[in-house]
Amino acid sequence: MVSSQVILKHGRDRNVRARHPWVFSGAVDKVKGKPQSGATVEVRAANGDLLGLGAWSPASQIQVRLWTCAEASIDHGFFVRCIRQALAYRQQLGIPARNSAYRLINAESDGLPGVVVDVLRLAGDASPTASRVLETHPGRRPAGSDSGQGVYERSDVDVRKKEGLETTTGSLKGATPPAHIDIVEEGRHYRVDVLNGHKTGFYLDQRDNRSVLQQYAAGKTVLNCFSYTGGFSIAALHGGAAQATNIDASQPALDIAAQAAALNGFQPSQMENICGDVFKLLREYRNENRQFDIVVLDPPKFADNRKQLEKAARGYKDINLLGFKLLKPGGLLFTFSCSGLMESSLFQKIVADAAVDADCDARILRKLDQATDHPTRLAFPEGYYLKGLVCQK
Ligand code: SAH
Repeated sequence: MVSSQVILKHGRDRNVRARHPWVFSGAVDKVKGKPQSGATVEVRAANGDLLGLGAWSPASQIQVRLWTCAEASIDHGFFVRCIRQALAYRQQLGIPARNSAYRLINAESDGLPGVVVDVLRLAGDASPTASRVLETHPGRRPAGSDSGQGVYERSDVDVRKKEGLETTTGSLKGATPPAHIDIVEEGRHYRVDVLNGHKTGFYLDQRDNRSVLQQYAAGKTVLNCFSYTGGFSIAALHGGAAQATNIDASQPALDIAAQAAALNGFQPSQMENICGDVFKLLREYRNENRQFDIVVLDPPKFADNRKQLEKAARGYKDINLLGFKLLKPGGLLFTFSCSGLMESSLFQKIVADAAVDADCDARILRKLDQATDHPTRLAFPEGYYLKGLVCQK
């Protein structure tokens, strides 16, 4: 039984009626009952219409995240259906069959606002039971504790502070993951640090784009900026690249990149790892007239809010200008933005301006975005964040 009701202000029901899954505090007129943080509440329009059921988060500007706009019970069966549906979609695409790591639940866009679940299996472990581990009631069964399976929480993201939630990490169920999980992605081997790596340890959202780079890489030299654990470089070497250079500010990430190269049977000489600041190193390379066939720019999110957009634009312009300068004629720039606030059209304009300032003519060969296990619900455009361009100088 849902005992509490969140009543929206008059005229503030439009977003929810359009199936947007968030209710902002400014739209809330009153709350009937005393819901605890996380409790399921009814969301009603000013005229009493039931609009949906969601999770109550009093400390947040997003006070309700909607589980459903239909009349449903938010019980164990509801979550099991969501998880099964998410898995079925990925299986239909053959993602779990070709990849031992993938995003099973992409939050709002898989119907579970605020919840992200990435599956990481050891390469060669074809166990299909990942979703079964999630589906079981806590405590009902020691899910997979003897088979090395477990659920590990990485709730150490800053946004939790806005919810008034503690940041926390740790084992929720079953076995604690080992320090490294070696995964396979479309035939490429990667090493993932689930416990301490960024996000859940690996940038699964770039999988499809790594596969694109692989197609263009034969015989090429590649400069992979913001490389993290070498994702794009290993794809390039699989595609027959002559040499790849990683630049990242994180030495632990680069150490893993070197280990991953060995996992794939590449020689140490094929991959160079440089720990440093991309902004600085690109300037040094330009001054030394160094040239590459392919430059990858996959920086971290430059804009967390609208106020930072202008500064972010300057950052993208700067690195893209330098990227174009470092390309040989005919060379390819793989350039990305993972800032959701940076719209595709604006990003393209910034890259175009960078080409002008680098005094070069370039064309777009391809437009890229987040991998297919990161879908975006139409009613939730905020879920679309990663965009990229393949430009040829
Ligand atoms: N391309 C990667 C993901 C990149 S994430 C992949 O496919 O896996 C962004 C990376 O940029 C992080 O690893 C972070 O350590 C690094 N980084 C952030 N600021 C940096 C800077 N100024 N110079 C170098 N690396 C930086």
